[in-house]
Amino acid sequence: MRKQIRKVVVVGGGTAGWVTAALLRRVLGEPIEIELVESEEIGIVGVGEATIPPIQHVNAVLGLDEAEFLRETKSTIKLAIRFDNWRRQGDSYYHTFGAPGRSQAFCHFHHFWTRAQQAGQVSNLWEYDLNYLCCEAGRFAKLQAPDPLWELKYAYHFDASLYGKYLRKYSEQRGVRRTEGLIEEVRLNAESGFVESLVLRGGQVIEGDFFIDCSGIRGLLIHQKLNTGYEDWGHWLPCDRAMAVPSERFEQTLPYTRSIAHSAGWQWRIPLQHRNGNGLVYSSNHYSDDQAADILLNNLESKALAEPRIIRFRPGRTRKQWNRNVVSVGLSSGFLEPLESTSIYLIQAAVVRLLHFFPHAGVTPELVDEYNRQAQTEYELIRDFIILHYYLNERDDSPFWRDTRTMDVPERLKQKIELFRANGTLFQDQYDIFLEPSWLQVMLGQGVVPRDYHPLADSLTDEQLREKLANTKKLKLEPMTKMPAHDQFLEMFCGQKP
Ligand SMILES: Cc1cc2nc3c(=O)[nH]c(=O)nc-3n(C[C@H](O)[C@H](O)[C@H](O)COP(=O)(O)OP(=O)(O)OC[C@H]3O[C@@H](n4cnc5c(N)ncnc54)[C@H](O)[C@@H]3O)c2cc1C
Repeated sequence: MRKQIRKVVVVGGGTAGWVTAALLRRVLGEPIEIELVESEEIGIVGVGEATIPPIQHVNAVLGLDEAEFLRETKSTIKLAIRFDNWRRQGDSYYHTFGAPGRSQAFCHFHHFWTRAQQAGQVSNLWEYDLNYLCCEAGRFAKLQAPDPLWELKYAYHFDASLYGKYLRKYSEQRGVRRTEGLIEEVRLNAESGFVESLVLRGGQVIEGDFFIDCSGIRGLLIHQKLNTGYEDWGHWLPCDRAMAVPSERFEQTLPYTRSIAHSAGWQWRIPLQHRNGNGLVYSSNHYSDDQAADILLNNLESKALAEPRIIRFRPGRTRKQWNRNVVSVGLSSGFLEPLESTSIYLIQAAVVRLLHFFPHAGVTPELVDEYNRQAQTEYELIRDFIILHYYLNERDDSPFWRDTRTMDVPERLKQKIELFRANGTLFQDQYDIFLEPSWLQVMLGQGVVPRDYHPLADSLTDEQLREKLANTKKLKLEPMTKMPAHDQFLEMFCGQKP
């Protein structure tokens, strides 16, 4: 329907709602009116606390001051996720935001490293990665104009409810109207089938030209009204429940998330300035909720600050994330479990994509189709990356791990694994947020060892190879030794002690 968009209504005031409102307001400016409707009675999920580096682009677009952002959201720095017990019990590896060594044209660093391993020059690949070194040392500094060799990519851990409040203040100060109320009815235009208004309890009617469904798992518009359909990926992603609980902060705040695998799920630990966020993500086919609560509480490393809270979800995605004049953003558009902290990224990616495809002069099938095609590919690629962690396990202690190891995974994923296993080849799919170093670290971490390497890695003599590796390690260590402890950085940068 070709109708000019003058007013956008954002349904929901969780992370998705406020990220959407803030970005739309910032980029679209005054000509487009933005109203956000939320119900305090329903509340928000409020557990998304770990992010990935693209959040910095979004913060830059919003023009946020980083020190203020860290203070207001009680953020800490995230350099990586440490995976414990994922490949085997007792085994650990990191998925950092960095990359090992320095790659050269056509030949990634890991090919040189693989050749060295095969020649008996054994070393740990992560020791060539500055992010890893900083994680292990618990240090951090913002590197000025970094040589690519010394790039220290980072994201944040933050308090989800404070993040929402911060973006709400930002949005309201810039003219987003917030309406408190419970939506009881969604009205469609009789001819076009487009959403034209929302009716709140008490009778208030809110009209709009375009609607962003940020109503969370229920998908008030996209599912309950438009019956858009949902692709269930439970056969690949076996966890369907989470239990979350905050606990006291540690003396020292680590600059990484921990993901600790248990016999039928995994536990996260996210360090914030004022507390730790913890949770167990599990399969309800394998653990009862009582069992899950026992596992979570018995494995906390500091005192719980509240009762555990259960969250049910269905891994998968909404079939048409843009349907008619409704775009679903956040949990209404799908959920891929929090293993790689991708949900907030997907919120941001959806809004950025919408801004590229914004239907100023009206919704057209071409805009909708291309938006949906890109969104689908992006979701599927993240899904495959998450499956990778489960599929490549070598654990034999429970049916959960045996089942995930033998499941039939998507063809594209199988090909990626086999290519890497054959000769260490990695490639970048369009719309894949995870670049080659991410695939490398998880594949190696989960135990896939390339049988061969790229022939360009043979261009050095054995001695030159030894020197290259030793120099790289030395160069990578250099900036780390001058950095302050993570907590000291936070104190200096934010002007307050964590
Ligand atoms: C266990 C778990 C852990 C997670 N961890 C991470 C993580 O580490 N990193 C990450 O990036 N993401 C994570 N996520 C995802 C992240 O929490 C969500 O992406 C994020 O919170 C977005 O939620 P939302 O805004 O879509 O929904 P919600 O927070 O559920 O908000 C829904 C909004 O809609 C409103 N609403 C609903 N119905 C009505 C109605 N009838 N009338 C009026 N208003 C209504 C509600 O009031 C609320 O404001 C995690 C999710 C889960 C479940």
